[in-house]
Amino acid sequence: MPGYAVLAHPWWVPLLFVLAVGHAQNICVTLYLHRSATHEGVKFRPMVEHIMRMWLWLTSAVVTREWVAVHRKHHAFADKEGDPHSPAVAGFWGIVLGGVFFYQRAARDPALVEKYGDGCPDDWVERHLYQGKRLLGLGLMLVLDIYLFGIGLGLLVWSAMAIWMPIMGNIINGVGHALGYRNFGTRDYSRNIYPWGIWILGEELHNNHHADPRSAKFKARWFEFDIGWIYIKILSFLKLARVIYARSQNAKEFAAKHYTDKVAKPVAQKLDRASEELERAKARIDQAKTEARAALRSPEPGVD
Ligand SMILES: [Zn+2]
Ligand SMILES: [Zn+2]
Repeated sequence: MPGYAVLAHPWWVPLLFVLAVGHAQNICVTLYLHRSATHEGVKFRPMVEHIMRMWLWLTSAVVTREWVAVHRKHHAFADKEGDPHSPAVAGFWGIVLGGVFFYQRAARDPALVEKYGDGCPDDWVERHLYQGKRLLGLGLMLVLDIYLFGIGLGLLVWSAMAIWMPIMGNIINGVGHALGYRNFGTRDYSRNIYPWGIWILGEELHNNHHADPRSAKFKARWFEFDIGWIYIKILSFLKLARVIYARSQNAKEFAAKHYTDKVAKPVAQKLDRASEELERAKARIDQAKTEARAALRSPEPGVD
């Protein structure tokens, strides 16, 4: 059993610890929360899934059902009114600097969580511990960090770990819908931030993901690199994961099938016509309201 503050020196040990914990958290977010629980492109063995749920509880206090529901709503309304965290709606810096607050506001909406949170774990541990005592995991990690690094450094390590996920989320939801290149002409503003999905394990390929959300594989072109997908392949090889759906066509073939003008234009025109019709209907309702109010104000003929 190591002694108190045994990992405080040399300086690179706590740094390495933060990077390792953050990397493990990124794995749980992209593999479990995103590709498995939300989009169901891959399924993990119960033990693997449980380790990831526990790690998320210990390091982030995120509740699976809430994360899944907010993210599904993001896809349903991507970059339109109703998207919980779109830079097109809330502004680029609003999401890059404060996206986590937009997430929290949406996650606290019970109607949203109920509507979009289908199929999430609902066992005893989830109800009583991961959801019922969501902050206890972070508390336990704080005790462990202080024990391993001492009070000052322990608090620093713990704080870095606690803000890791909000920062990653802000980058993906902000930058991933504003800056970078596009392989597919999706109707949102999603972008591939960078072709090498190393830092956030493939989540950088956000336009590829929006083009085919169910795919457990985010990589679409030969030069793109998706570490999350490599982890899934390794876990599949070890019989710890089962891929349910992964895009097999390359970017060109997939775009030709789903995102050419021939396919996308009629859909876009139909949606535009529906929006115009909706606007006209709203105008008619406003007009009717105005007339009704005017009728209420003016005396009826023959009444003195
Ligand atoms: Zn997105
Ligand atoms: Zn998604």
